Amino acid sequence: MEKEQDIEVVKKKFTDYLSQKGFRKTVERFAILEIIYSDTKHFSREMLQKALTIRVSRATLYNTLQLLQECNLVLKHQFGKKTFYERAFKNDFHLHLNCTVCSTTRELKDNDFKKCMQNKKLINFTPFRYSLNIYGICNKCSLKEKRKKFEKKKLEEAKNCVIKINQK
Ligand SMILES: [Zn+2]
Ligand SMILES: [Zn+2]
Repeated sequence: MEKEQDIEVVKKKFTDYLSQKGFRKTVERFAILEIIYSDTKHFSREMLQKALTIRVSRATLYNTLQLLQECNLVLKHQFGKKTFYERAFKNDFHLHLNCTVCSTTRELKDNDFKKCMQNKKLINFTPFRYSLNIYGICNKCSLKEKRKKFEKKKLEEAKNCVIKINQK
């Protein structure tokens, strides 16, 4: 229910912004907004294009994402070499855990960190929101690497064993 209300608030904000700037309120523009707010995921431009059920030109997609950023409804992130977008409304404080091996990004809401940031005094500056990128390795990749190392070790051991037997 809360999510549905959020969508309505967000739509209203976008409608107001478009009116104020004299831009047309097209079906395409609102379809893009709805896709972004349909999920908590991060979307690349290609992912958005694929998720849309109506045809939207690349130019419209690009232009709409620009407008949505201008009215603070969408956030843009650079994860590695790729650009991603995500909802901005009610998403002011969060961390991104980026795996440098498989390039996946997980979002993390951490209340301790939030409190810490809220108590932080920034000289001559008032923060509205933040997103912090933490780079590392995800569990899946870490397990894979451990397994690889383990297999390599077993292989080495087997080889050494063969050499020893041959030497006898
Ligand atoms: Zn990974
Ligand atoms: Zn995020």
